[in-house]
Amino acid sequence: MAKLEPRARKVKILATVGPASRDPDMLRKLFRAGADAFRVNMSHGEHAVHAETIAAIRAMEKEMGRPITILADLQGPKLRVGQFKDGKAVIRHSGHFTLDRDPTPGDETRVCLPHPELFGILEKGQRLLINDGKIRLRVIEASPDKILCSAEVGGVISDRKGVNVPDAEVPIPALTEKDRRDLGFAIEQGVDWIGLSFVQRPEDLAEARRLMGGYGALCAKIEKPMAVRRLAEIIEMSDGIMVARGDLGVELNPEEVPPLQKKIVNDARKAGKPVIVATQMLESMIESPAPTRAEVSDVANAVYDGADVVMLSAETAAGEWPEEAVTIMDRIAQQVERDEGYKARVRFLDTPPDATTADALAHSCMTIADTVPISAIVVFTGSGSTARRVARERPSVPVLVLTPSSKTARRVGLLWGAHAVTTKDIGSFEEMIAKGKRMALRHGFGQAGSKLIALAGVPFGTPGSTNLLHVVTLSGNELDRHGG
Ligand code: PGA
Ligand code: MN
Repeated sequence: MAKLEPRARKVKILATVGPASRDPDMLRKLFRAGADAFRVNMSHGEHAVHAETIAAIRAMEKEMGRPITILADLQGPKLRVGQFKDGKAVIRHSGHFTLDRDPTPGDETRVCLPHPELFGILEKGQRLLINDGKIRLRVIEASPDKILCSAEVGGVISDRKGVNVPDAEVPIPALTEKDRRDLGFAIEQGVDWIGLSFVQRPEDLAEARRLMGGYGALCAKIEKPMAVRRLAEIIEMSDGIMVARGDLGVELNPEEVPPLQKKIVNDARKAGKPVIVATQMLESMIESPAPTRAEVSDVANAVYDGADVVMLSAETAAGEWPEEAVTIMDRIAQQVERDEGYKARVRFLDTPPDATTADALAHSCMTIADTVPISAIVVFTGSGSTARRVARERPSVPVLVLTPSSKTARRVGLLWGAHAVTTKDIGSFEEMIAKGKRMALRHGFGQAGSKLIALAGVPFGTPGSTNLLHVVTLSGNELDRHGG
């Protein structure tokens, strides 16, 4: 097996797993091509299948000897149509289409809408947008068990496509019964991140946290206008943020999404919370082996904006070219990060350090690496918090995260510039320096003569104690002398 080199980029790639990619061989290909983290989408598929996917990723993690991150994405109160006789049907332009409560598979005239909540509240004249707004229906007549619509824009509708109702307030809790079951399953399966869809209020996150009981990290998906209005509080309440452009661009006008994307990325970066840019990044690659120029620009711009993660959805979950999509994304990211103008661009955002010792040192790491040639910043951390504060500075060199916690190691798979290695805990300053050097050499973060910055807190193992910054030079012999 070819030796795994560290990724030649700082931005991370999150690939959604689905029928096109859940085979262990394909997962391996995606990982090798550059996927740092995998999203298991609870909106589709059964627990038994997800459990197999998760087991395959964990087996691959062992085989590769590298922490691999899993995000379980809860569907949230997302509305979806039921299923069709032939898996799909065509809704005619300016024809009629009915949504009802009859679970019988649908056809070109009707389909089940398995959300009783909607039948009481939708009114004549309101819009129903299906499949990311591609199909637009307007209510002609709503009765307690039937919603008759005219199709302002028709098209192909298929099983379980999403429905947005931007004109009505839907009285559904942040976590549905299904979400609660899925969350329990995800925790049992030991996933690293939980994604919460259709967050509207900070209270939604509080509820998720309560149910998580201190387990894992929580990512708030921003896809509702309501969430945008309370963004600061939502960022405060979460561990990570996703710019969920698919639903966001349906709930709002699509042209409102780019400025919002920038605002969300900036605000999350300022808070030091990892931020994911998601949806349609290489959409045409679902069917085509090459992306459009516009898609390439979209990915590149997210990287220039300093997002922590770029995500692939159907491209890897259900597309014909999953491996190619990851490969292209990796190449785009590398190209951007090699650009001479990249460093200045990614740091256009002013992220002044908080008045803490940890932030002062994190900021110093960035400055030192800009001043003398440094091959990596080696961070010793238990919770990962020091690594997040260092990554927040967007330093010009990789951040090698050494942690005794495999949870922390997996969690930083969604953190810009971080490469995690799990190691035994350290007891002394000498041990820390020796281990930092050894790990940097072993994992390809330096060679004889390279300088490293070591960052840690003393006494070791005390959370929030980051107070030590040391610059060391590798002799290149560290591996021989210390063996393992
Ligand atoms: P989804 O979330 O793929 O779960 O819908 C992302 C988005 O809405 O953009
Ligand atoms: Mn969504």
